[in-house]
Amino acid sequence: MPDCIFCLISQKKIPSEILYEDEDCMAFKDINPEAPVHILIIPKKHIESVMELTEEDSGIISKIFNVAKLLSSELKIANSGFRIVSNCGKDGGQTVGHLHFHLLGGRQLQWPPG
Ligand code: IMP
Repeated sequence: MPDCIFCLISQKKIPSEILYEDEDCMAFKDINPEAPVHILIIPKKHIESVMELTEEDSGIISKIFNVAKLLSSELKIANSGFRIVSNCGKDGGQTVGHLHFHLLGGRQLQWPPG
């Protein structure tokens, strides 16, 4: 997707603070952090949202959760706890149309979210 900001980040045409990368996915710091740890984990393949996932993407999604687990240890939030969120569509609060998972931690998170 030529104008997709997260495609451009994954192609390194837009700079980001990358914490993890492999052939299928990438994790980088959110530009507007809502918690001391706020990382975005994305598939490199352009998938609009959870609603566009198909059976063939199951391996990538599994990989993304493994990356979240790995980073939670590396960033020392594994013991205290963390949250993984994927906003979907307008009412879900999705503002970037490229599937992404927020990894949030480093403070007591509130529930329910706003
Ligand atoms: P959403 O609102 O769930 O779609 O999340 C999009 C996230 O992308 C927000 O938390 C933004 O702060 C973040 N974001 C937008 N542009 C950039 C960028 O260029 N680099 C890193 N994070 C970004």
